[in-house]
Amino acid sequence: MMLSRNTYSASLDFFGQSTPEELTENFGSPLYIYNENILRARCRALKTLSTDPGLKVCYSTKANGNLHLLRIIREEGLSADAMSPGELALLRRAGFSNKDICYVCNNVAGEELAQACRESDHVSVDSVSQIESFGQVNPGGEIMARVNPGIGAGHHDKVVTAGKNTKFGIVPDDFDNMREALRKYRLKLIGLNQHVGSLFMDPEPYLEAAAWLLRTAELFPGIRLIDFGGGFGTPYHKYAGEKALDMKKFGTEFDALLSAFRARTGYGGSFIIEPGRYTVAECSVLLGRVHAVKNNGPVRYVGTDIGFNVLARPMIYDAFHDLELYRRGTEDRPPMVQTVVGNICETGDVLAAGRELPEAAVGDIVGVLDAGAYGHAMSSNYNQRLRPAEVLIAADGSCRLIRRRDTVEDLLAVYPEFGAF
Ligand SMILES: *Cc1c(COP(=O)(O)O)cnc(C)c1O
Repeated sequence: MMLSRNTYSASLDFFGQSTPEELTENFGSPLYIYNENILRARCRALKTLSTDPGLKVCYSTKANGNLHLLRIIREEGLSADAMSPGELALLRRAGFSNKDICYVCNNVAGEELAQACRESDHVSVDSVSQIESFGQVNPGGEIMARVNPGIGAGHHDKVVTAGKNTKFGIVPDDFDNMREALRKYRLKLIGLNQHVGSLFMDPEPYLEAAAWLLRTAELFPGIRLIDFGGGFGTPYHKYAGEKALDMKKFGTEFDALLSAFRARTGYGGSFIIEPGRYTVAECSVLLGRVHAVKNNGPVRYVGTDIGFNVLARPMIYDAFHDLELYRRGTEDRPPMVQTVVGNICETGDVLAAGRELPEAAVGDIVGVLDAGAYGHAMSSNYNQRLRPAEVLIAADGSCRLIRRRDTVEDLLAVYPEFGAF
């Protein structure tokens, strides 16, 4: 087998003892592959980001909720964020306890808040009306509040999660109403959190927002948790040499901010960060197969089984993922501009438009880099297709299935007996 464009995954020994071809033969296609060593390395980079003794790293489960990955993340000593009862169930099954779970939700029912209070020590709500709902189910309880600094950051409007044009957080104009709701239900405000957006590669806006949160925290004496949110970026343009976030520089500046705050205010509580993408994005390559190639007018289309039901990010966010191509044959095929598409019946089902890649042929295997965050987690059964399986390349290079592919029986299982209609 000649591998025409695989230098990135090869440099990491990504697939361990297997080849992409063997993996898709044994487990089917499309297929999410995870590399345990890379996942553990990212967890460690986060754990050692700061020298502050009170920094907790809460992995944001929504980025990837695979139970086996959650277990590894817990082994590495991270805590976790949940935002739904389903995520709570997965985290508890992975061994996280109440003290390791932050429940950060918005716009949920009172019963859900009651469940969150039973299963997590830190429940954060994001509006005065949700403080009221919380007070009704847990009067006298401890609560965190998500605030909105009016600054947002992110790679796309859809992932900017603070600022005036988003649904998130309590804005400073509402702080008096917040205090009144807390008093009314005798709630103890134990912390503040924020999350300003996703995928920053320049830490400045994050640090500015963190500084704002620290100033805001001084308005609420008695809190013991200050949570700066996630958003730590990963470089998606690997083949163009895009640089990773400089964690050392970032850590130094972050530390300076935290220690100055402790010195100025005597704060003895904890700080929290909530990285999702940074933890899991780079530990996965999504494999798929080329089933058709054609020219429609000037455009060369490469038809694969990686539809937007498998990886939604390109469709939702215009996200860029680097592609690799693995194939049989020894002849060197020339590079050409190609548009790689999926098998979903929609025009928008484009994985990568106008990419220069070695000429693809039927039977080739495509690898989508950095697919671990918001990849499988956002996959769906659209077109009644089956969500893919997930395989782990363990630290010793061996592979094993960590989540099976959906089956057609799974699709049918949600319906009551036909006779019941
Ligand atoms: C999505 C989310 C995160 C994680 O964001 P990343 O960009 O993946 O790091 C953290 N906190 C909250 C509240 C979120 O909604």
